[in-house]
Amino acid sequence: MASRTGIAYNEIFLGHDTGPGHPERPARLESLIAHLQSCGLWTNLQHVMIDPAPEEWILKAHSPDHVRFVRDACLSGRGVLDDGDTRVCAVSYDAALMAAGAVIAGVDAVMSGVLKNVFCAVRPPGHHAESGRAMGFCLFNNVAVGARYAAFRHSVKRAAVIDWDVHHGNGTQEIFYADRSVFYVSLHQYPFYPGTGAADERGTGDGREYTLNIPLGTGSGDGEYLGSFRRDVLPALDAYRPELIFISAGFDAHRLDPLAGMKLTEESFAEMTRLTMEAAGTLCDGRIVSVLEGGYHLDSLARSVESHLRVLSS
Ligand code: ZN
Repeated sequence: MASRTGIAYNEIFLGHDTGPGHPERPARLESLIAHLQSCGLWTNLQHVMIDPAPEEWILKAHSPDHVRFVRDACLSGRGVLDDGDTRVCAVSYDAALMAAGAVIAGVDAVMSGVLKNVFCAVRPPGHHAESGRAMGFCLFNNVAVGARYAAFRHSVKRAAVIDWDVHHGNGTQEIFYADRSVFYVSLHQYPFYPGTGAADERGTGDGREYTLNIPLGTGSGDGEYLGSFRRDVLPALDAYRPELIFISAGFDAHRLDPLAGMKLTEESFAEMTRLTMEAAGTLCDGRIVSVLEGGYHLDSLARSVESHLRVLSS
């Protein structure tokens, strides 16, 4: 039987050149795709056609000033977008539109029922990008654009975002902090970059209690992650009853990742995927759009994504 799991990828993502020695580099996707080809998964997945996200959809999550700033910086060849190392080249703007477009295509595929779930193998990543600020290797918030698209185009009233990247997704939190139509839950190393994500950050106004932060101490492994998943994340999802679940799928909580200090393995990511799929099966006909965020150890990233996809496509 044909797989009902899709992969959304485009070679333009390799053209986003962040310069020598940068951890968020094209080799992340090159080695990931090569690995999926060599292990046989690549040909079993449905390849989702993607187009660049029209700016009107980027503008549902970002300010016009931000979109203009990113576009001008990329096209002018200015190298750095922030005071850290969010680096771009002339191709980066088109790559960023395509990354958001991949999530939009994923949303269309699962909301129409053509596919059960989709993994978006994209870069640049998105979850640090705020409505008005590029940050942490992120230009546009791919998941946030996808969630707004799902709301406007598919009338999704409740979408959940599960963010297991090792870093807190300050951008996704900021964009939906006062918005109960998106429930944002993050498990992350804390205290750590970017500094946000304390347990008492729970949303504001209409969005109060629709942000759930699960800060975990450095060195956390399966016990902490899977324990929190069962104790905190799954009951919160049950209560929220999402119509669609996004995963901000970073794999930098892997024990070999050079940028962080957690102790997960490929099997940990498989188990979190299994638990998310069980919840999605009960709550929203299994609809999951998973979007690559971080993950900087090439072999671990490739093997972790393989584990993630084997469960998604099971
Ligand atoms: Zn990260």
